[in-house]
Amino acid sequence: MEEFKEILLEGCPASPGLSFGSALILQEEHEIIRERKIEPHEIRNELEKFEKAILQTKEDLLKAKASLCGLGLTVEESLFDVQILALEDEMILQAVKEKLERELVCVEAVYQNIIRSFIAGLNKVGEDEYLRERAIEIRDVAKRVLKKLKGDEGSLQILDSPRILIADFLMLSDLVSLDLRHVSGIVTEDRSRTSHAVILARSQGIPAIVGIQGILNKVINGQTVLIDGFKGILLVNPSPERIEMIKEKTLPSSYLELSDQKILHQLAESIDGKKVYVSANIEFPEDIPVMTKSGADGIGLYRTEFLFLKANHPPSEEEQYEAYRNAAVHAKPHLVVIRTLDLGADKIVSYLPWRWMEENPVLGSRGIRVSLKEKEMFKTQLRSILRAAVEGNVAVMFPMITDLTEIIAAKEMIEQTKQELFHQGIPFGEIKCGVMIETPSSCLIAEHLAQTVDFFSIGSNDLIQYTLAVDRMNNNVEYLYQPFHPSVLLLIRMAAEAAHRRNIPVGICGEISSDLYLLPFFLAVGIYRLSMGSVFIPRTKRAIRYLDVDKIKNSLSPLWEAKTSKETFEILKMITQSYLPSCFFEQ
Ligand code: PEP
Ligand code: MG
Repeated sequence: MEEFKEILLEGCPASPGLSFGSALILQEEHEIIRERKIEPHEIRNELEKFEKAILQTKEDLLKAKASLCGLGLTVEESLFDVQILALEDEMILQAVKEKLERELVCVEAVYQNIIRSFIAGLNKVGEDEYLRERAIEIRDVAKRVLKKLKGDEGSLQILDSPRILIADFLMLSDLVSLDLRHVSGIVTEDRSRTSHAVILARSQGIPAIVGIQGILNKVINGQTVLIDGFKGILLVNPSPERIEMIKEKTLPSSYLELSDQKILHQLAESIDGKKVYVSANIEFPEDIPVMTKSGADGIGLYRTEFLFLKANHPPSEEEQYEAYRNAAVHAKPHLVVIRTLDLGADKIVSYLPWRWMEENPVLGSRGIRVSLKEKEMFKTQLRSILRAAVEGNVAVMFPMITDLTEIIAAKEMIEQTKQELFHQGIPFGEIKCGVMIETPSSCLIAEHLAQTVDFFSIGSNDLIQYTLAVDRMNNNVEYLYQPFHPSVLLLIRMAAEAAHRRNIPVGICGEISSDLYLLPFFLAVGIYRLSMGSVFIPRTKRAIRYLDVDKIKNSLSPLWEAKTSKETFEILKMITQSYLPSCFFEQ
């Protein structure tokens, strides 16, 4: 690796924007523990801290095991036994004690070193399957102990200046535990553009690039890097002239300031007078100022699970109530659509341990399935939503619906919760109930669903995943994740038509809602509610003003004859380019 030469690396653009800063490499364990020298009189204290961390970790593992017993998941249960054995391994415990006394270094650094050499030893023994698995268990359990020793539940180092995160694979939990104000860019080797870590980057306006092969071998911690999230280019060691150029371009930055403010804060309207709501997807209360500035027509998707991912316990009713009420106040005069908890897949929390033990979480306990199992948690969330609804502009929607009975059960819970609040004399408001259309099943039974709910919101990120049987986080099959696939477009049209027949509004809130090439398609099939990361709102609102929906409808018939994603893409690209000026495609 050449330390000072300017190097250009290419990946895929994942979140627009330009920025530069010093690289922060996140290695697999994502923890940088500094060695801190201790005095001999501190040895006892350090060892006590260590014993306590081991005990607490064991308690956590036993609790997790007990909750699995209730669910009859015996295979997973035994995994905890293996981890407990690894945790209490005499050889490791003794080695920590001896090294600490000998070297007088803080216990977390000692423990991390011992674990590393222990794992290296196991891995050296060759291709022994048993030893390799044992190494994995030890590494996993050690991570838990280190978190306890550091007195947090997984926080990374505090960032005190803008940093560009560089990782092979970025877990959502890594990102939510960071002070995002100091994250000015994200680069991953992983190629997923719809991972929740990347979605979060987008909604925070953090430029991101995915898919740079071997990135960890190409950048050194602390090196200056420049990220162009429009083009998917990373410059390592950019020249001072290049940095100056970027500074000029980033002030004013991205799409936000490029738009006419007056246009931005009105409803977008096509040439032939179709009014379109362009609202924001948000994850945290901190996203609200950006969404307000972007000209969003309210909040079309509030991913509430992010409130649950931040701590090692669920947020209280009061905390949730404050967050939802605040969103409702800022969304006025428009709606805030609060999506109930969508835990599962890459959104996992430590306090529901059975969740992350599932072998195929994408097809397992996700979204509404979790809420209907964890009734108390669900009830608390519904209470806070209903209370926030006093503001008069709150709607709720349920994720991962595959079956009508799930909606019926969820709506029953809402009724029960209202009764409860009523008897307690706690004010609450009326709410419209919608569903996420994000599974093929929900499209196929859309007609039935439309008779039970007040609106649809198409979750294309998952709809693509489940329709094409492509894990949206799996690099090996990433080339098959095709938003333009004819089957995806047909399912979207099917859901939209069912909604129209039953006279309920239909919107789209997956990442493709901001895709310019799909915009004419959405409008042509009658989807007039688009919800997206705030950074894309100004551009989308401007683009809508150039489109003539009636004319587009007439030119859409070849699309339904197209057999492949390539064909549909070419057709939609041609339509879009015939309406939009070239400046839309230059960024
Ligand atoms: C979707 O699936 O399109 C969606 C908006 O939900 P999420 O990305 O949070 O799964
Ligand atoms: Mg989804």
